[in-house]
Amino acid sequence: MKLYNTYTNKIEELKPLKEGVITIYYCGPTVYNYIHIGNARPIIFFDTLKKYLEHRGYKVIMASNFTDINEKILNQAKKENITEEECANKYIKAYLEDVRFLGADDSFIKPKVSETINEIMEFVNKLVEKGAAYVSGEDVYYRVSSNPKYGMLSNRKIDELIQGARVEVREEKESGLDFALWKGFHEGITYRSKWGEGRPGWHTECCVMINKIFGGMIDIHGGGTDLIFPHHENEIAQNESLYNNRIANYWVHNARVNFGSEKMSKSIGNVIWVKDLKCDPRAYRLLVLSFPYRNIINYTEELQNQFDTEFLRIKQAYQKLFLHLDVNNLFDDKAKSNISDEIMNKFDQANENDLNTPNGITAINEAIKLINQELRQNKDSQILSSLYNVLTEMLHIYGLDIKLEKMSSENRLIYEEWNNARIRKDFEVADKLRKLLVERNILI
Ligand SMILES: [Zn+2]
Repeated sequence: MKLYNTYTNKIEELKPLKEGVITIYYCGPTVYNYIHIGNARPIIFFDTLKKYLEHRGYKVIMASNFTDINEKILNQAKKENITEEECANKYIKAYLEDVRFLGADDSFIKPKVSETINEIMEFVNKLVEKGAAYVSGEDVYYRVSSNPKYGMLSNRKIDELIQGARVEVREEKESGLDFALWKGFHEGITYRSKWGEGRPGWHTECCVMINKIFGGMIDIHGGGTDLIFPHHENEIAQNESLYNNRIANYWVHNARVNFGSEKMSKSIGNVIWVKDLKCDPRAYRLLVLSFPYRNIINYTEELQNQFDTEFLRIKQAYQKLFLHLDVNNLFDDKAKSNISDEIMNKFDQANENDLNTPNGITAINEAIKLINQELRQNKDSQILSSLYNVLTEMLHIYGLDIKLEKMSSENRLIYEEWNNARIRKDFEVADKLRKLLVERNILI
């Protein structure tokens, strides 16, 4: 598989550190609020990448953190009149609900800052001992000038950066570019360190968590493009200073989602929370995956409507096929055909190429077209059964699973009654039976 590596600015062949295994880490949320549909994009992207790699036979180990110690959480907790811990837990729970709502696997490893404090202190201490960081009052700062490689990820020159940062030089820092690894802090949750009472800086947690979980370098580190600078640049700098590596071989970033053509932002208020999405979450996921992940999406209601219709079309074809196979007892998970192989090849090729999901969706649409055709015309059971198998697999990889139940004999009777009621145009009875069948997951 090929992926665009922000670090090298190239599309590169993905070569895992350990054969057959891919390790992934992407930066998770600071848990002080709900997430909006733009925050959902990395969840959707990395979940899809994971499922695709699993489909190719890799074992994927994925981690994503919760920043549960942060001033924003303290401020929000005050507003809601709850403790910081309660606030963090509330939004962690909400986040994981959103993850599942978006059709993403929630079984990734979930480190928290509050559970990594000792390791963070140790890490910062080692940086100080190496001369890559310095203590200033109760704070500890990373000394950017100690690292000639600084700026590699974001393609910035260190001299220019230092020049640019001069305006914000404050007394406690040697350079405006230096960033806090530890901050003296005396309110809410604090930790006792050798530098005084305080809290860890944001940029350190991810490096420490990765080293703690994976014991060294990983394959893929990701997040939204807004994290490239300074967050990921600073992560790499610290890790280079201490371990002489760039944390991950591949740095992979997804573009953002705009609201219309404007940047979506919690502070401006032009956001749609994931929990408030009116549409089927799979229709939103389909929308997101219909754009290359490195392109900005300008989200509008009209665009969503278009994908609601698209997803409905997929659902209807899938249901028609499912019922046909079920009623005629034609399910066969080993069924193969040239047509279905061709579709799966197209789908794989699209994903091999920097996870080109728009082309993957084209393959799904081709399968839908063929299914409708085959159901109208030949009804070849081998072809239909094999198309069902590949469509189910493709939908699963893209997190668009459509879950239907095979009919028990009781449900089969209800299904037949429903069909009969429709034939004799008894809409009242048909409607009642339809509702029952939907309740039982026989119909959508
Ligand atoms: Zn991070």
